[in-house]
Amino acid sequence: MIDTTKDQTLRILEKPEFSKDDIIFLLQTDFECRNILYRKAAEIKEKYVGKKTYFRGLIEFSNKCAKNCYYCGIRAGNKETERYELDIETILSAVRFAWENQYASVVLQGGEREDEDFVQKITEILQKAKSMTNGQIGITLSLGEQTEEVYRMWKENGADRYLLRIESSNRDLYYKIHPNDKFHNFDRRIDCLKILKKLEYQVGTGVMIGLPFQTYEILADDLLFFKAIDVDMVGMGPYIVHENTPLAEFENLLLSTEERFNLSLKMTAILRILMKDINIAAATALQAIDPVGREKAIKVGANIIMPNITPSENRKNYLLYQNKPCIDEGADDCTTCLEARINISGDEIGYGERGDAIHYKNKNF
Ligand code: SAH
Ligand code: SF4
Repeated sequence: MIDTTKDQTLRILEKPEFSKDDIIFLLQTDFECRNILYRKAAEIKEKYVGKKTYFRGLIEFSNKCAKNCYYCGIRAGNKETERYELDIETILSAVRFAWENQYASVVLQGGEREDEDFVQKITEILQKAKSMTNGQIGITLSLGEQTEEVYRMWKENGADRYLLRIESSNRDLYYKIHPNDKFHNFDRRIDCLKILKKLEYQVGTGVMIGLPFQTYEILADDLLFFKAIDVDMVGMGPYIVHENTPLAEFENLLLSTEERFNLSLKMTAILRILMKDINIAAATALQAIDPVGREKAIKVGANIIMPNITPSENRKNYLLYQNKPCIDEGADDCTTCLEARINISGDEIGYGERGDAIHYKNKNF
């Protein structure tokens, strides 16, 4: 009997573990087979983490960055960007907004800096945000590479989780999308993830999908990398060109935006099957391609959404990529529109619940 693509998809999805070749096969599924993959991922999600989406209020703290990643619109070398940094009061009022609206968690994200003033300011924000919410609000930091001492201090002062995307787990590709200098070091990024784990953070990482020079094999390795380092959370989404960056030069090598979008959904679905009880974010970049892109990711395995609660006047300057969504909305608009959309995707929203990764809770530190 001829083994059709459909038979092969079904056979792989029955396996207890996927090989790298299995993942490469699944990444290339289309039409009916892709939908079989999505249905399986939705089943696994429901069984292991439930049909629930948790909100993390995203505060884009500052677009000042010391680094020069080739893909990013707020890289130090982009002189066209007007730089801003929110003051402590503004950040705390965003935290209050999240708390009062039962988001239960916030993410503080910004450009990467290691200067003393920056480190102290974050420490103060952590202390105040925690005391303002009786120690209850979940705080995720996404502030790049820091020393072990800094990570420890932030943890002791209230940080619960840390997001540090490896961007690509393939060393060669990493150096195609970053300068090869002391500020951009693949090994340091890996070491940081290990330190964060040692300090008992809930650790998240991720990659961009559809980068120039990226292959299916590299993407399969990315998924296996997440599993090997045993992360608690993953945030990954399509690479989107920012014109004013060096990587824009390779735009002609890219898959179409639609293909990058579909590949991101397939990566999400396969990851849900590979790592059943982790938290997976529906990347904001999905929404830059499809207005309901994040909700589609929720349907195929993601369980976290990060509504932007940055004050509207600053959003226009935190442009990591073109067509970034929601830059002229206020936080209130975001909540209302998201609520309606999540309900359409069939999930309920975990209002008032921190939604820590079950994978982390099961580690029993
Ligand atoms: N400076 C921190 C956090 C801010 S950047 C850090 O780099 O870790 C947050 C994420 O935005 C990055 O990890 C990267 O994956 C993503 N990003 C940057 N430029 C992008 C682009 N052009 N397309 C899609 N994602 C991008
Ligand atoms: Fe800075 Fe992060 Fe952008 Fe790199 S990806 S330039 S570290 S903000």
